Amino acid sequence: MNDCLFCRIVRGDIPARKVFEDDQVIAFHDINPARPMHLLVVPKRHIESLQAVTAADEPVLGRMLAVAKQLANENGSPDGFRVIINNGRVGGQEVPHLHAHLVGGPEPVGPMLKRN
Ligand code: 5GP
Ligand code: ZN
Repeated sequence: MNDCLFCRIVRGDIPARKVFEDDQVIAFHDINPARPMHLLVVPKRHIESLQAVTAADEPVLGRMLAVAKQLANENGSPDGFRVIINNGRVGGQEVPHLHAHLVGGPEPVGPMLKRN
């Protein structure tokens, strides 16, 4: 048993507002939402980030994106959405278990990045 935060959510040791689960991924509401819809789509198997993926992880990466589309339609963002994956120090990743942020809502989410 590891003490990774999202592994603990996957195991049910920590509560989360879960909206989806299958054999490969789970999805739940971000605890600190940045938009009216802000879900996290997470592989059940611990993968630290996209920096750590191997060929064996490719099916679950595809599954994450397919689930994102389904969840956007079901959670108040039918007219589009944004998927963000932060990776490592430069990417600003805070939780070291791969996750896709799925953000949206009725209104456009805004510019992609602030220009430096
Ligand atoms: P990152 O910066 O790693 O891409 O994003 C981590 C996200 O996880 C943040 O948006 C943060 O609000 C969310 N988060 C951190 N701790 C928890 C938690 O215990 N439960 C849930 N549901 N989300 C969390
Ligand atoms: Zn983990």
